[in-house]
Order: sequence, then structure tokens, then C-alpha cells
Amino acid sequence: MTISRHYDVPAWTDFVRGLGDADQRSAMQQHLSAGCARCGEFVATLQRFAPIAATEAQYEPPEEAVRRAEALFQPRASTAVSRARVGARVTS
Ligand SMILES: [Zn+2]
Repeated sequence: MTISRHYDVPAWTDFVRGLGDADQRSAMQQHLSAGCARCGEFVATLQRFAPIAATEAQYEPPEEAVRRAEALFQPRASTAVSRARVGARVTS
């Protein structure tokens, strides 16, 4: 059996997460079953990370950490003024 075209990273990421079109998932499973080493290794790697990514999405950072992060990334008044000036120069 010949190997059909390879699939890209987003397609395999959806595949591992159980997402995507059923027909495409079936074709991708056949691609793996045909023995594509390149995609097989990639899928195996994604499958190792999938449980970590799933728990990461459920992680809720402590409220204090969120407040501190927001404070760190607040635009400073002087930055806001210089951005306004740049915007004025660009639009005029
Ligand atoms: Zn492949």
C-alpha cells in the first residue's frame, strides 16, 4: 500500500483531540494504519502531550496572580500618550 499525502500539524492536533470531520478522521486513521512513520511519530508525540494540555485548560490561576499580571501589563500613561502621537502621525 502506498502512503497518501501527509497531514499537517493542525489536522493531527484535532485528530488526537477527537475533533474534526469523521471522513477526514477515518482517512487519517487509514494513513496511520498504512504505516506512515513520519505521521505516526508525530501523533505519538501529540498523544503524550494531550493529557497535559487537557489538564492545563482546566487550570484556573489564583485571583491574586491574575491581578498582579494585569497590573504588570497595564499600559503606562506615558506609553499611551506616545502611542496616541504615533497614531496621529500615521493617520494624518
Ligand atoms: Zn504521513
